[in-house]
Amino acid sequence: MFGWTGRTVIIDLGNNSVTESRTTKKYAQQFIGGRGLGCRLMADLADPGIEPLSPGNPLIFSTGPLTGTSAPMSGHFAITTKSPLTGTIFDSNAGGCLGAEMKFAGMDSLIVLGKAAEPAYIHIEDEDVEIVPADHLWGKDTHETALILAPKGRVACIGKAGERLVPLASMMNDGYLSGRGGHGAVAGSKNLKAIVIKGSNTPEIAESEVFDRSVEKVNKLLIANPPVSKGLANYGTSVFSDLMCYMKILPANNFRNKSSSALNSISGEFIRENFQTEKKPCYACPVGCRRDFGDGTLVPDYDSLWAFGPNIGNADLDTTTLLNRMCVDYGMDPISCGSAIAAYMELYSTTPEREELVALVRDIGEGRSELSAGSYSYMYSKGMPQNSMSVKKLDLPGYDPREMAGMAIAYATSNRGGCHLSAFMAAPEMMGKPMALDRLSFGGKAALIQYFQNLAAVIDSLVICPYATFAMGEVELASLLSAATGKTYTAEELLRSGERIYNLERMYNTKAGFSREDDALPERFFEEGGIDREAFRNVLTDYYHFRGWDERGVPLERKLQELGLQERWTN
Ligand code: SF4
Repeated sequence: MFGWTGRTVIIDLGNNSVTESRTTKKYAQQFIGGRGLGCRLMADLADPGIEPLSPGNPLIFSTGPLTGTSAPMSGHFAITTKSPLTGTIFDSNAGGCLGAEMKFAGMDSLIVLGKAAEPAYIHIEDEDVEIVPADHLWGKDTHETALILAPKGRVACIGKAGERLVPLASMMNDGYLSGRGGHGAVAGSKNLKAIVIKGSNTPEIAESEVFDRSVEKVNKLLIANPPVSKGLANYGTSVFSDLMCYMKILPANNFRNKSSSALNSISGEFIRENFQTEKKPCYACPVGCRRDFGDGTLVPDYDSLWAFGPNIGNADLDTTTLLNRMCVDYGMDPISCGSAIAAYMELYSTTPEREELVALVRDIGEGRSELSAGSYSYMYSKGMPQNSMSVKKLDLPGYDPREMAGMAIAYATSNRGGCHLSAFMAAPEMMGKPMALDRLSFGGKAALIQYFQNLAAVIDSLVICPYATFAMGEVELASLLSAATGKTYTAEELLRSGERIYNLERMYNTKAGFSREDDALPERFFEEGGIDREAFRNVLTDYYHFRGWDERGVPLERKLQELGLQERWTN
């Protein structure tokens, strides 16, 4: 198969077995790769009721048919599992270069099952796969671990947070954290410290000349798109923070306030004007939104700047950078960590100084704080779950849904909880890309949200960077995919695959016990002149209708049949 390698590696750490299977053509074409393939494999391998930290919960790393090619922003990969934080199926679109390396090593997917008797890491060099003892790495932070293993290949690893099964734990590769759903804890529960991959193959393209022309075209589209070629490329993801302050989209102090002038001092423009930074782009990325200060310390991206900035009432960039660095070293999601601290601050009406913030992050990462469980579980234990600014227990990022109606629906209906990337409504509602929408109105958005969700599922499955959608849509993606694989995809077919993936995830969550009650927003957003409760209820019903789901949000049998999903899920 062109585009796909056809190879899936299955490792059971419980009995030290390594087996391989063929990626079926049907799965590849229906579910694309990355998130879609991960989701399909989860549905095949793990009952939706599985305990996330049990050995049977698969941890699935997947590439897509564009991964490792010359298509821009195509070095990403997906990690899919059942989340110990949310209890949902949970994919993560991971940046860096490891995805490309996985493809060079000839893999569509790597499935990790079981639990090693002792700490271990997985080392893959093309066809050679070995499980290696990792006692010498256990207890080390992600930075040290990656440095030790780097001579053997590209590294994805966990830090202490993952080892201690903190549900906020992520995995780290190439300086990027991924897996907001506690993917690091799932790795830790398997005694898996790291995967290390080295490959020497070149992905095969079916129609290379057509593919090259498509790549040239999308590169031109990226250059012609100012938010990408001027904004992200020059200032990173925090380029929009001043605009967000101005539009009052930027929440502060656990969403108690709508904006913060404090962020002006730590915006993308401020960082560019006051610091020397170096780009650290992902594989084949001409944009390079990621950068460091030149000493290996990452410049926090917008999510971290917000989570450890306005969200906790902090305006000091040095403190934010330190807390972000601690999260990277512990292997822990900065949004969830900052949100847990914000909830704690609200509960006790306190404003911690820098040293206290450092201690809080350290205790969360070490797994010895009540906050290590995340803001929802923490606030639930205090009898105030409504003060956790989360959806399905996943903390919301720094985009206020009271100021973006589409984002409110997207948060509520995201299969992985309070995630902004499941349907990045900030693009049309804030920047007018690809079309300008009235950000304060629900009008027309019940149908539109599913388009953005399906498109995001396609992006996550191909697998390319989510920011590519600023400049590329399903038409460009279909032409890249067609040329890469030799199978003609129309834009409609591609979006239909996105819809299939979204519905399969929804069914998985339904079988895991999720229902309409979970498609909810924190009460705070309905109070004090926020979102109109009745309007939200109605738009949710309309959304289910457009999706082909019943009033409880369960996909109807005819929708499952239409998408070819009935075999697995029809009772
Ligand atoms: S835009 Fe940023 S996150 Fe996306 S591929 Fe480029 S460097 Fe990576």
